[in-house]
Amino acid sequence: MRIDPEKCTGCALCVLDCPKKAITVKGEKAVIGEECVECGACLKVCQVDAPILNDRPKPGYVTCEACPIRCQIPDDKMGACYRYRNEDGKVVRGVSLHFREDVADIVGPSPDSSIQKPIITAIGAGTTYPDYRPAPFIAQGRVDEVDVVTSVSEVPLSYSSIRIKIDTDLSLGKEGSQVLFDRREVGHLCTEGYGSKILSIGGVNQLTGKHGMATARCISELANRHRLNLKIEGGPGLEVQVGKAPVINGEVAEKMRVGCGSATAGLFAPLIKEAADEVIVIDSHITSLFTEHTAGTYLGATPSGVRLRFRMSTPGRYFGKQGDGWGGTPIEDPKDIIDSIDMKIAHPGMRILITETTGQRAAMYRVIKKGALEEIPLSAKAQELIESIQDHCEASRVSGVYVGGSGGSWRAGVGTYPIKLTRAVHENRAMITVGGAPTFILPGGGIDFLVDVEKVKTGAFTWIPTPATVAPIEVTMRLADYMEIGGHLGSIKRIQALREYFDRRQS
Ligand code: SF4
Ligand code: SF4
Repeated sequence: MRIDPEKCTGCALCVLDCPKKAITVKGEKAVIGEECVECGACLKVCQVDAPILNDRPKPGYVTCEACPIRCQIPDDKMGACYRYRNEDGKVVRGVSLHFREDVADIVGPSPDSSIQKPIITAIGAGTTYPDYRPAPFIAQGRVDEVDVVTSVSEVPLSYSSIRIKIDTDLSLGKEGSQVLFDRREVGHLCTEGYGSKILSIGGVNQLTGKHGMATARCISELANRHRLNLKIEGGPGLEVQVGKAPVINGEVAEKMRVGCGSATAGLFAPLIKEAADEVIVIDSHITSLFTEHTAGTYLGATPSGVRLRFRMSTPGRYFGKQGDGWGGTPIEDPKDIIDSIDMKIAHPGMRILITETTGQRAAMYRVIKKGALEEIPLSAKAQELIESIQDHCEASRVSGVYVGGSGGSWRAGVGTYPIKLTRAVHENRAMITVGGAPTFILPGGGIDFLVDVEKVKTGAFTWIPTPATVAPIEVTMRLADYMEIGGHLGSIKRIQALREYFDRRQS
């Protein structure tokens, strides 16, 4: 990498982001040192395009092929990611492969199989408010020759929320936009997952705020897998139901993309190579240009002369933009993705296939004189590629993860040493489940759990107008651990006695 001194303003943004600390500013101009591995980070952050990529590797430098960056690594130095090193002209991973025993101390022990599942669930248990009273049911049974206790309660949680994952490539609006339910704000558009958008609904500030009732109702309706209408402020209207396809502005989103544009190029490379002379997969994150992409060059594809409108990340991978057009970008006419065709490289008759990461739309063109394009029907090979992409797409759906903060007074219903219960949970000696479903406990203080609502019986979540949502929470541990946390031993019932009691009530 070199710096164009005419352009460089000495702002030092590149100094901050250079992973190799190879840049210094002298006399208000950036200067690049020998540590440079041509990773291009400075190119991406420079506001005035002052860095210039060197055309060829310097003598003694080796090209790393482990990722699209293709660092040029000097002898005995690391690449930009600090994983690969040039050792005597060979690129090697600096850390040897780790086996399970190498990480056992860090991962920690697995929970005992006897306590992984509750012996009763909290569904139908009720609540014993205020919580210093023992939980409604504390059951003891034997599992794998071990005495096990499960304490259950339907717990009102002010610290609760739900993350709704909507599988779609379509833009739902700007991150941070409000999510409205019955015209009230209940959450926000949070972030993106792989081929999906995530809504965050609820949380204590939302529940204790002006629209707490609507928020509590919205969370429990979603957690119970009911169909709801939501609106993103400044964005589309949504019909969402956990387990079903999302409806966005009245249109059912059918297919989830197979990967980003670059992943699509990698996944289907052999078919893509056969499908056309150039293949562009339009995507709002990474749009790919096959002949320039590592997957294409690996298979011997030759440059097509096609230049794209989007900004290059690495060769063949271009940062997309959000919109309502092809691949969730603003591109309405697929050929508008092409900025220019260099006819010194391209030739008349060359075929270009353009598609999306779902393969739902595809168009094929033939290059005619002066780089103009005429649309032609998809060839048999192009059709085969498109069908293969479509076949590998999963159906779009809505899913939901309920998030509860149960580190509060609920613990008093379980035992008299709440801190010991919290420790037992984090040490995998006490297992939290929700309606029998496994949870993930967030690290750090308290007992914050995540649960997949599709693993919990419909109707098991409720809400009360404090406002709070109510979740059926079980905690299961060995009897010895239950005694250690100061469990309410006098309230324990044998599981058999509970079964007989409820059987009698039902008959
Ligand atoms: S190419 Fe990478 S290593 Fe070289 S100066 Fe720029 S940011 Fe630093
Ligand atoms: S894997 Fe690391 S060293 Fe290799 S090219 Fe990528 S960033 Fe550079």
